[in-house]
Amino acid sequence: MEPGDRLGLVGESGAGKSVTGFSIINLISKPGFIKKGQVLFEGRDLTKLSDSAMRDIRGNRISMIFQDPMMTLNPVLTIGTQMVETLQAHRNISRKDAEAIALEKLRQVYIPSPEKRLDQYPHEFSGGMRQRIVIAIALLSDPALIIADEPTTALDVTIQAEIMELLLDLCERFHMGLILITHDLAVVSQVTKRIAVMYAGSIVETGDTERIVNAPAHPYTKGLLAALPGVGGTRRSRLVQIPGLMPSIKNMPSGCTFHPRCGECTEVCGSAVPLLAPAPHGGFFACHLEHSCRDPRPGERELMRERGEPA
Ligand code: SF4
Repeated sequence: MEPGDRLGLVGESGAGKSVTGFSIINLISKPGFIKKGQVLFEGRDLTKLSDSAMRDIRGNRISMIFQDPMMTLNPVLTIGTQMVETLQAHRNISRKDAEAIALEKLRQVYIPSPEKRLDQYPHEFSGGMRQRIVIAIALLSDPALIIADEPTTALDVTIQAEIMELLLDLCERFHMGLILITHDLAVVSQVTKRIAVMYAGSIVETGDTERIVNAPAHPYTKGLLAALPGVGGTRRSRLVQIPGLMPSIKNMPSGCTFHPRCGECTEVCGSAVPLLAPAPHGGFFACHLEHSCRDPRPGERELMRERGEPA
């Protein structure tokens, strides 16, 4: 991602979106672990950093915003104490200076009367205000990247729109990158420049958000978009649904992991793993659709062998 870039990570529950977000900041809970790959950030591979070097990055250069602000905030500490302690964990800074920064951040997220609010506890705020405070805490150290994991799921629709507008405004004002993790394609299309659609732990389609929303190439993305309720349908029209469920990681289908649910499945789909290849919208998609009855692409045989499938 470039500075100021905004990427939407979308897919159903269980697609691996949150795990991907947690992997970036090395917060995978045991028994999970990062088996291989790289997380390149500001010239360093984060998977190679020591715990203390990673703590300098996490909550400092990269901040994460979680779904439910009540789970993030400590209910027995005032907002001011939580903000000051967060700052002091990353910087050698006096309480007075930390309070001044905390006040500034509360102003940036439009908390009214921030001086009074510093002495209040999380339960004294509404859900939307609490999420604004979580965002203010994420901003404390002027991060280069914010990973927001379903930041509006716990909020009602009007507050959701306000929080998304706020995130967008902050990213533009401070030139911060944003990875927005959500199952809500409508939100993604309003906020992000690029999109990555995940299915069963892999990215199956990626590219410019507007182009993909207007002309998706992968059957899974098409299904997600078709499942969105529109305002133009008649009373009798039914919502489209993708049949079946996301597979368990313990029992992945062979070939294309989406093939048991795909309406466009062909013979090759059950045996050959599709890799990301250029899509008509200028991005990439992993599907045999335009390449059915072809030989596997370079790398596909290795992937199939690794997954224990006949290559
Ligand atoms: Fe469907 Fe085959 Fe494409 Fe998979 S590879 S999405 S099963 S058409």
